Amino acid sequence: MLSLSSRGVPTRGFPAQTQRLILRLRDNVPPSTACTAADCIYVSDGEDIGIAPAWTFKRDVFDALPVGKCAVLLPEAMSYLSDGDIIALEPSKGALRVLYRRNSPSNSLLVTERCNHYCLMCSQPPKDIDDGYIFDELELAIPLISKETAEIGVTGGEPTIGGDRFLGLLRTLKKHLPQTAVHVLSNGRRFVDPHFAAAYTDIAHPDLVVGIPIYADVASLHDYIVQADGAFDETVRGILNLKAGGARVEVRIVIIKQNVERLVQLAYFLARNLTFVDHIALMGLEVTGFARANLDSIWIDPIDYWRELTEAALWLEASGMRVSIYNHQLCTIDQRVWHVARKSISDWKNAYIPECSRCAVRDRCGGFFATGTTRHSRRISAVHDAGTSHA
Ligand code: SF4
Repeated sequence: MLSLSSRGVPTRGFPAQTQRLILRLRDNVPPSTACTAADCIYVSDGEDIGIAPAWTFKRDVFDALPVGKCAVLLPEAMSYLSDGDIIALEPSKGALRVLYRRNSPSNSLLVTERCNHYCLMCSQPPKDIDDGYIFDELELAIPLISKETAEIGVTGGEPTIGGDRFLGLLRTLKKHLPQTAVHVLSNGRRFVDPHFAAAYTDIAHPDLVVGIPIYADVASLHDYIVQADGAFDETVRGILNLKAGGARVEVRIVIIKQNVERLVQLAYFLARNLTFVDHIALMGLEVTGFARANLDSIWIDPIDYWRELTEAALWLEASGMRVSIYNHQLCTIDQRVWHVARKSISDWKNAYIPECSRCAVRDRCGGFFATGTTRHSRRISAVHDAGTSHA
């Protein structure tokens, strides 16, 4: 699993008052080359990678420097950083976070840690903090992102809690990265406000989709899983408002012990009532955050629900809906639905176990979350014939 943040990183040469900097790493760009104010150079020096020199940092920071160079020594665990990557650096604390990796297909912009849900299996437990500075950071970072980036995620917390700042961020993405597909993860409730939903669709981003969870066809069960009364009603009405404005909507269903018995009924509900959504994702559990804390009460082995998963996926497909299975290992699901199983786990947290090295379908299999290799299905076993599964 890649290290995406670090504290106590040694720095030197920065003025004491220097706050957070957003920096794009460049590979030995000569001083005469047109650099933006936030460009900096990284140089490889044996085991360490240093960022230098000062002239490529923000002009006001540069002008205030008492001596020639400022630099930060990156930890060995971040030696994967390369040209075009973007970091946030707090020199006074030596705090460094990786915001974007140019060579990764799995970049996500986390816009807030706040949320109005408290889901039993939340992978990013919410914090009630004032983190509006994150929007400031991202407004600086987005113009530095490579125009060739194919896709970027917008996530939280609940991104729509940012209100106008969230909408402004989408406009910034449209302006600076018009060729980049944007995938927002939201609980959908903010879109129950028709004015907000209209403001969202009015952005008219050329390639924007919002993924919204519905965990059950029964309102009380959905509300229990997200720990928020009235959530189901607002979420469904939010989806209706979005679709009325022409937005693209994906419904995401994380499968846990509490909703697996109604998975097929949920598929029927979606096929009857929300046929017009653009994609359905049937998702395995990521064992981190609240999911790890609540694991004993929410975990169900995928091999114990393969029939429900198969029936739900085939029913949705037969109803003309686009469906995918995410975060499942091929050896735990029915071969009849392998064709909708995707390699969905972000590259920086994707892992396989030793058993996988003998498997004939490893290249097609999504594998595991790196955080979840210790709790996995009891039926994981190498597939020897690419035409068979164990389910
Ligand atoms: S054994 Fe094969 S199918 Fe099972 S998780 Fe590993 S790679 Fe995937």
